[in-house]
Amino acid sequence: MAAPGIRSAPACYPLHRLYQARDRIEAQFIVDLLGAHRIPAAILGDYLSGAAGGLPLDISPTVCLLDEADLARARKLLDGFLSDATGGSPWRCPSCGESVEAGFDLCWRCGRPRPA
Ligand SMILES: [Zn+2]
Repeated sequence: MAAPGIRSAPACYPLHRLYQARDRIEAQFIVDLLGAHRIPAAILGDYLSGAAGGLPLDISPTVCLLDEADLARARKLLDGFLSDATGGSPWRCPSCGESVEAGFDLCWRCGRPRPA
């Protein structure tokens, strides 16, 4: 399900680190976002989890660009993505009806998680 322009690089060479993701899902989301804007990107750290020997897998995946020329544009997209994730409009708690700031994943009044 890779979008056009996305390559699965064995390593990030040349290495243009863009962003260290919290997890594989976030990293993939960002790669997809960049791909939608024709910025080829790869996830570094991914292939390590396939390495033999049962290494500890607490390596955070890092999103890397394959072309340094895309760096400024990619950062802008990333900034937009990150501010969307933390900003945005408040959500209403389905349990108690409280309006909760977008940055919170739990209702501050009753502790119910934000609905998906
Ligand atoms: Zn609530």
